[in-house]
Amino acid sequence: MNEIALETGAESVSRHLLDPWDEHNRRTASNVHPADWVNPEPRGRYNLVVLGAGTAGLVSAIGAAGLGARVALVEKHLMGGDCLNVGCVPSKALISASRVAHQVRRANEFGVRVRGEVEVDFGAVMERMRRLRADISKNDSARRFRDAGVDVFIGAGEFTGRHRLRVDGKTLEFSKAVVATGARASAPPIPGLEEAGYLTNETVFSLTELPRRLIVIGAGPIGCELSQAFARFGAEVHLLEAAGQILIREDRDAAERVEKALRRDGVRIISSCKILRIWRESGEKHVELECGGECRTLAVDEILVGVGRAPNVEGIGLEAAGVEYDPRVGVRVDDYLRTTNRRIYAAGDCCFPYKFTHTADALARIVIQNALFGLPFMAFMKKKASALTIPWCTYTDPEIAHVGMYEKDAKEKGISVRTFVQELEDVDRAILDGDAEGFVKVHVKDGTDEILGATIVASHAGEMLSELTLAIRARAGLGTIAGTIHPYPTQAEAIRKTGDLFNRTKLTPKVKRLFERWLAWSR
Ligand SMILES: Cc1cc2nc3c(=O)[nH]c(=O)nc-3n(C[C@H](O)[C@H](O)[C@H](O)COP(=O)(O)OP(=O)(O)OC[C@H]3O[C@@H](n4cnc5c(N)ncnc54)[C@H](O)[C@@H]3O)c2cc1C
Repeated sequence: MNEIALETGAESVSRHLLDPWDEHNRRTASNVHPADWVNPEPRGRYNLVVLGAGTAGLVSAIGAAGLGARVALVEKHLMGGDCLNVGCVPSKALISASRVAHQVRRANEFGVRVRGEVEVDFGAVMERMRRLRADISKNDSARRFRDAGVDVFIGAGEFTGRHRLRVDGKTLEFSKAVVATGARASAPPIPGLEEAGYLTNETVFSLTELPRRLIVIGAGPIGCELSQAFARFGAEVHLLEAAGQILIREDRDAAERVEKALRRDGVRIISSCKILRIWRESGEKHVELECGGECRTLAVDEILVGVGRAPNVEGIGLEAAGVEYDPRVGVRVDDYLRTTNRRIYAAGDCCFPYKFTHTADALARIVIQNALFGLPFMAFMKKKASALTIPWCTYTDPEIAHVGMYEKDAKEKGISVRTFVQELEDVDRAILDGDAEGFVKVHVKDGTDEILGATIVASHAGEMLSELTLAIRARAGLGTIAGTIHPYPTQAEAIRKTGDLFNRTKLTPKVKRLFERWLAWSR
């Protein structure tokens, strides 16, 4: 893999994130790590210094600058962080292409004849991804932030005291600071893995040729999304998982629907397995595993690791700043996102268990509020992270989206719930779209219509979920959803139908008898 040297003033940052070095990646770099960037001179004491320009850092910086604060933003690699460069954006571009391949392959089902083999030009798929990423990168560009009044420093930042940070030989003094250094892929301790070499989210989007045979280690969201995409591109994919099911965080019935879809797409899922060792031989990578007491060896061309994310908390001077952290969990914060140094806050993947872009965004908004309006008489303006309602979605096909409590969470808290499930096979639009695999499941607090949580499995579950997230936030119950007109035919009607199921439970035998008597009397 080519190493790319991005020159930044006196600093040379060797990167492999933007490989190959084509016009698209050069365009991305010119936005998010411009070679001719000259760091400004520090402007005295800053209201806010932000370390890391991923989603959490960018939102903190631009929000604070918009309020008139003097802000410095420090980024050592690529502005936009994981989401833009090696996360959501490139992965969703690949997923879109894989969905098209899948739809074309099943065109015959719809009476649309496609003659011959459907062929995926992987090089073209990846080029499209790089082009779109470059288009989107202008939103996160160093120039855009400078023009918004933020002092952008490109270089590795490090706290050197409780209220100062150093970058590119310059010292930035601050009243408040935010640690927003994100997380990185963690690798499991498998003998031989390092020597054999493997892909992570930092390198997989640099591929230009489709690996013929791929092993994906870890059936979490990233592993499942990319396994399905690569299988749909034509690779032979094995997805290995130590636990007994894929997407371990999700309910078993929901995960099983996705598992079925992955298998149908050709992904060979091996769960409850232990990888014993990996080695390289005759240009192949060999993976020895044990499943159910039996050992077997798979030979592949590439290994992709997606087993979790480790927070970036070391080597950034947190000790000098008096900020406590745990290398596995991240920066220690209270509910107001304040660290053990009262001047320093943290947001995003470096401190929070829900590692999503929309969470990083929401936490950054909390930090702006809490850090900049910190006077005692402003206490009523303070926001708590625990008050957030955080939805999420795994972008497999079908997608799994979830918000609020699972049934098991409610049980643990001693809350009794009633659950309403609407299968998509009874929803007209899902049938007509050929997307009837999935369901909407809503949990309400027993005896009320208060929605405590919901899971949706559907081809666009992520789009559908927001109705339920809003309902939870606005305390609109399932009865309100039942009374809300949904356009026909839409897949979101499945959500309303769970409301109908709820309403039906109000028709108890006693109420029904009373109704029958009234109707008989009024005939
Ligand atoms: C493959 C993949 C797919 C994903 N898909 C989704 C998705 O579909 N939806 C979703 O919501 N989330 C998704 N995520 C998660 C999402 O990318 C992260 O939650 C999000 O990027 C977190 O933002 P952040 O600002 O906390 O951290 P990051 O984006 O990691 O940004 C941290 C920044 O800090 C910089 N930094 C670190 N140390 C220093 C230092 N010392 N000095 C200066 N700068 C420093 C880093 O270079 C980086 O740019 C995905 C992640 C991956 C890996």
